[in-house]
Amino acid sequence: MRINGIIIGKGVLEKKFSPCNLRACRHACCRYGAVIGPARIKKINRLLPKLFPLMRPEAVTTVMKKGFHLATVFTRSDMNPNHDHHYMRTVKGRCVFLNYDDDGGCVLQKYSAVNNIKFKLKPVGCWAFPFDLIGNRLVVYKWKNLPCLDDSRNKKAPPIYKTCKNELIDFLGSDGYNELIKIGNNVKRR
Ligand code: SF4
Repeated sequence: MRINGIIIGKGVLEKKFSPCNLRACRHACCRYGAVIGPARIKKINRLLPKLFPLMRPEAVTTVMKKGFHLATVFTRSDMNPNHDHHYMRTVKGRCVFLNYDDDGGCVLQKYSAVNNIKFKLKPVGCWAFPFDLIGNRLVVYKWKNLPCLDDSRNKKAPPIYKTCKNELIDFLGSDGYNELIKIGNNVKRR
């Protein structure tokens, strides 16, 4: 099925998803960092001195020594091969840009909000989580070790297309989202 040119993966209609409880999982989705491209890398590198005071001390030490992303280039068939993408570095099992307050634990998000920066420093994959657009196919991540994506814990949770309305509107537009809701309601009735 396609909505506004995007193929809707099965999980988008079928997965159940409980709203985030970041205090309980301690931002488990930030465990591996995220993939980041050249435009954001350039901007973040310039802003690092201003980001350091918001970061965990151990993350600042690591970033000062090694930089905030890995040297290895991350590739995926749907990504522009002319742009280098990398994984963020992690320290003590979490992305270097994660701080553990619940008031926007991501330092990149917090800094952008406080300073009214329109360009989103936070990587696209983090904004879109738990969805990923692979080519033009919209899918749900399959990380069973995250409580919010663990089916056995989410039997009574609402469908993900209701929990993550804003993320889906970003991908499909409001009209596309309304279409998805109608399809979802029909699937439920069958
Ligand atoms: S950039 Fe922010 S949201 Fe993304 S993994 Fe790092 S701390 Fe988490």
